[in-house]
Amino acid sequence: MIRKFWWGQRGTRRRIHWVKWSKMCRPKSLGGMGFRELQKFNDAMLGKQIWRFLQNQDSLFYKFFKTKFFPHGTIFDAKENRGSFAWRSILKGREIIRRGLKWRIRNGSKVRIYGDSWLPGSWQGKILSPVIDDQADARVYSLINHDSLCWKEDEIDRFFVPKEAALIKAIPLSLFNREDVPYWPHTRDGVYSVRSGYRLCLDLAETEVVNSTGAADDPKVWKAIWRLQVPNRVKTFMWRAGNNSFPTWANLVRRKVLDDAICPDCKLYAEDNLHAIWSCPKLVDIWKVHFAQLQASTTHCTSLLDVIDKVSMEKNSFELFAMTASAIWMRRNKLRLGENSTPLGQISASAFDALKEFQQLRPTHAQIPRTARAVRWRPPSANCVKANFDGAVFSQAGLAGIGIIIRNEQGLVMAALS
Ligand SMILES: [Zn+2]
Repeated sequence: MIRKFWWGQRGTRRRIHWVKWSKMCRPKSLGGMGFRELQKFNDAMLGKQIWRFLQNQDSLFYKFFKTKFFPHGTIFDAKENRGSFAWRSILKGREIIRRGLKWRIRNGSKVRIYGDSWLPGSWQGKILSPVIDDQADARVYSLINHDSLCWKEDEIDRFFVPKEAALIKAIPLSLFNREDVPYWPHTRDGVYSVRSGYRLCLDLAETEVVNSTGAADDPKVWKAIWRLQVPNRVKTFMWRAGNNSFPTWANLVRRKVLDDAICPDCKLYAEDNLHAIWSCPKLVDIWKVHFAQLQASTTHCTSLLDVIDKVSMEKNSFELFAMTASAIWMRRNKLRLGENSTPLGQISASAFDALKEFQQLRPTHAQIPRTARAVRWRPPSANCVKANFDGAVFSQAGLAGIGIIIRNEQGLVMAALS
């Protein structure tokens, strides 16, 4: 049954797969993608099986596997340590689908508020507003008034940042209690294709961290953040700072946790993230040390993201900015918890030292030996086949893998194994 599912039910489908597969496995010089990308291509092929699961829920296959492996959830809930080798292999295709999939909301019953991708727009579409207490697993269903078939606007305004709230409220709801529809935003027709999945695999591999950014209005800022040569926690901090996802007093007031947003340090202004990290009068002296010019040029800025945007263009000082900002935020949190923290006067210097230390410890690219050689694949002579192979050992994970591909004189794949 698995084999049938794997190759498609109809005889012709198998041939279609085969042609595409062989075409894509041609060496780059012949318009294919070369050997090293096969693993990603394999993942993208597996993604196709997952996609079919999502789309054909009336099929016998779907019902069979659902009963057996994920009776109460979706295929994304199925455990990877159960079932046959083929089934576990198919599950490996989930990752690519999970990361690329988007949902059209109908009645909201299938889609999780946090984690799933469902906000319309060109970016990833995940909610970035802070998670409402004990609602981490809630479905979009709970945001809809199902009697009047409209969004619970008051709640949405309360729980989500204004931009997300506006997006949510603009989503049209189904009048007929239909189920949410998954679609694939990376193709024109919204249907998964192996090619688009493969391309996504490549993109994700290239910008492994960048994929977790969501509301990239201006991708340049986010790229600059993830390219920072600072500890990962500081990168994450900067990303959250830009997305306004901190529990600042202003955010807590919006979520009705607090009544008063006044900054406890200066007792003058509301503490939003711009204030908490950049513009509070108590912080002026810290920033003045290295960023006096930036202070002068950002007086009109209304969000921390604007400030980050500006400083991100100055490559040399962006890292120090990130380290200082993160130290300020850490200090602020410690104080709120009643813990001791770095005195204000020392923050600038200690951020500078921490950055220097980090960058000295970091191996530079020059120390990594370059072993890659440019090898051009040449087809074998007529009536011969050529076998290429490669292997890798991942000592930390205790895993090893091999890949073998056999091609004929036209560069077409006769057999492949990985
Ligand atoms: Zn203040």
